[in-house]
Amino acid sequence: MRVLIAASEAVPFAKTGGLADVTGALLKVFRGTAGAEPVLMLPLYQGVKEQFNLTDTGIRLSIPAGASRHEGRIWGHNSAYLIECDEFFDRAELYGTKESDYPDNPERFVFFCRAALEACMALDLRPDVIHCNDWQTALMPAYIQSIYNNDFFRKTASVLTIHNLGYQGIFDPASFSFTGLGSEWFSAEGLEFYGKINFLKAGLVSADIITTVSQTYSREILTPEYGFGLDGVLKKRAPDIFSVLNGIDTKEWDPETDKQIAANYSRSAPEGKALCREALLRDCGLKAVESDSPVVSFVGRLSEQKGIDIILEAFDDILSAGAVLIVLGKGDERYQSGLARAAARHKGRVFVRIGYDDAFSRSIYAGSDMFLMPSRYEPCGLGQLIAMRYGTVPIARKTGGLADTISDYQPSDGSGTGFLFEEYKASSLMSSLRQAISVYTDKDRWNGLVMNTLGSDFSWEGSAARYLEIYRAAFDRRK
Ligand code: ADP
Repeated sequence: MRVLIAASEAVPFAKTGGLADVTGALLKVFRGTAGAEPVLMLPLYQGVKEQFNLTDTGIRLSIPAGASRHEGRIWGHNSAYLIECDEFFDRAELYGTKESDYPDNPERFVFFCRAALEACMALDLRPDVIHCNDWQTALMPAYIQSIYNNDFFRKTASVLTIHNLGYQGIFDPASFSFTGLGSEWFSAEGLEFYGKINFLKAGLVSADIITTVSQTYSREILTPEYGFGLDGVLKKRAPDIFSVLNGIDTKEWDPETDKQIAANYSRSAPEGKALCREALLRDCGLKAVESDSPVVSFVGRLSEQKGIDIILEAFDDILSAGAVLIVLGKGDERYQSGLARAAARHKGRVFVRIGYDDAFSRSIYAGSDMFLMPSRYEPCGLGQLIAMRYGTVPIARKTGGLADTISDYQPSDGSGTGFLFEEYKASSLMSSLRQAISVYTDKDRWNGLVMNTLGSDFSWEGSAARYLEIYRAAFDRRK
């Protein structure tokens, strides 16, 4: 099965969130799977150029997008191909600055989608399946049914994974001409969306199979509350929607071997976690904390999705409940400044770092006792999986993948791996946190809970096998 994974980000090349972890991990797993021949295609961003030693394939592309043609060049790195076009991708960020998205995002991703298909032809890679991910690559299924409905792609099937329905690539209708699609696509059955154009919708109406990243989320997106205006479109495609739970790269995220944490530990030798906790508190300048103060943390994008509003609302209560709080995140200016202000009120008990920092995130996952994920919605979520892998107990809203990967602690028999709350409210978050703190004060019960989290299995194997089944099903339909 020749699989082209097309994505706007993938570990280790470029990452702003979980999408990159998933596409990078899939490539890695498929590389070691008999019967799978994976290839990744990614834009060549500034950061990738600086950090990786790439091979020039010598292949150049000339792609129409917008008013003119744009020149591209294909670089290789193992089984990844990176498409260079400096006017679009030689920038500090992937999608935009903290003030706004790049205004030429429609041209940038029209370019990338078409260039990825042209690159397949130029490299003579005849994919059985193109696995597209989110809006940035969602035009590709539409292209192989229209402009690229040619002999080369005649048998190529498409699978589109929704990693986050909250981001759809909605643009002014004037951008429609950039796509090069015929006018019939500017319709309710195509990519028209309330008078605008919607790249994700183009993929939702044309991909052979749609997947999303947890079973609960696959049901939630069919409702107006979680459907972001696309629930109607998705309901029509319901028989073609499948869910495959994300995993994590368990070699990449392993407290037993992680070189960036203060001490290594595992389920059979968990002592190192206490050293990580001490080191984290020291590094954050959070001193003189009593041993019964739980270290509570948050790592993630500072966006409305992630529940920062209720963290800010609960901020003083979290500290009054006896916790120390550590936050690492980057995103909306209002949350960045809100967190900085709240931290200033509680010097010595709170540490907030605004920024993206992989090494520091590892120290936090390893050194914390509890991890907050009060998301408004959460397609799958990786933060809670990584936290559990590092023996840190998640306190999360019961939605999407959080509901599917965390089992609520049962005081009666000590089973469960975290604390879940239903309502999107600061008071609900606080009642779960208080419950967690009450278990925390009983060291035996708490250690049992930490052992449960350290025993969870979130490896990719099962999910990668499921993707292969889905690729086969899509391929059979296309044939
Ligand atoms: P999303 O994809 O919605 O951002 P996920 O929970 O699926 O959320 O994945 C987030 C990933 O990005 C995790 O690996 C998390 O550790 C990482 N991450 C998010 N923000 C930061 C940050 N500021 N610094 C370091 N890592 C971060």
